[in-house]
Amino acid sequence: MNFESVNNELAALGCKQSHIDAFWRNWYLGRPLTQAKFTFPKAAAEAAATLGTRLAQVLMPDSDDYLGANGARAVLRASDGQRIESVLLPRDGVCISTQVGCAVGCRFCMTGRSGLVRQLSDIEIAAQVVYAKSRQKISKVVFMGMGEPSHNRRNVLSALDHITRYAGIGYKELVISTVGDRRLFEELSHREIKPALAISLHSAFDEKRRMLLPNAADLTVKEILDFGKEYARLSKYPIQYQWTLIRDLNDGTDEIDQLASLWDGQFAVLNMIPVNKIDDSPYDRPDPDRIEALKAVCRSFHILLKFRDSAAQDVDGGCGQLRARAMREKQKAVRDGTAVIQIKDLK
Ligand code: SF4
Repeated sequence: MNFESVNNELAALGCKQSHIDAFWRNWYLGRPLTQAKFTFPKAAAEAAATLGTRLAQVLMPDSDDYLGANGARAVLRASDGQRIESVLLPRDGVCISTQVGCAVGCRFCMTGRSGLVRQLSDIEIAAQVVYAKSRQKISKVVFMGMGEPSHNRRNVLSALDHITRYAGIGYKELVISTVGDRRLFEELSHREIKPALAISLHSAFDEKRRMLLPNAADLTVKEILDFGKEYARLSKYPIQYQWTLIRDLNDGTDEIDQLASLWDGQFAVLNMIPVNKIDDSPYDRPDPDRIEALKAVCRSFHILLKFRDSAAQDVDGGCGQLRARAMREKQKAVRDGTAVIQIKDLK
């Protein structure tokens, strides 16, 4: 099931474009799907209940959210039993997933450990926004949950267009997060509608970056920064460079010295966030004095730095950690004989 197949279904039931537009607007608003000032074709109105049920089953809440001070995470279950995460963010935002698992394999990320399980369809990506809107006001969507958007380009861009068109969220409030990919860069540059872009950097040194992001596209830091500079010029919007800070690995001022040597002409913000400690990981959060030193060096080079703690850090909330916890709990329940679940639930 994807947007194109549902649109074809609606057209076959006699819907014109205006009906289809109203249908999807209603979906995001949580209204009856055929509610409109004009009348829907009889066949479409009759089929709406069944269609609504199918759409509601695209993603279903799997567990209560784990509420924390900085956000609420939800595990959502797809119709094949796969679980994904969304994070409801403070200030009317939501962070959504684009894949089940991820092939990039970032060393510090729980999602990267599972490898890629499967792509999410465009409807599954957008359904996370529908769910979030049922929980709180949403005016910003960041594609920064499980998965690497450039590895699921077609569905991500289809979802992006759909959200822009029907959910009432401006494209500048949609942020695609990527480790960097030539085809994605190329495609975004030529699109009329350009979303905001966040690029995961994590180090200014090529070798170290390759070690931290083993399966990212083979781009040098300079190539990534050059693209970022050009995209910011085209979109007239600052690039967000993402940097997960890891003690004694990429929290030294030498990183900023190196970054500054490549930074010339950037219209950008550097977002630093301490690593989210995960089970069995050798990576720790940096000491406060190292963070202060980084802030001072960024200031001296006029690099705009935003430092923050991970949303939902206190609710087990790094990439893929909530899904992992939900799966551990499910497996434990099976071992203890306290749950009856299907094998597909453990995928
Ligand atoms: S940090 Fe993002 S890109 Fe890296 S493995 Fe995790 S989900 Fe994939």
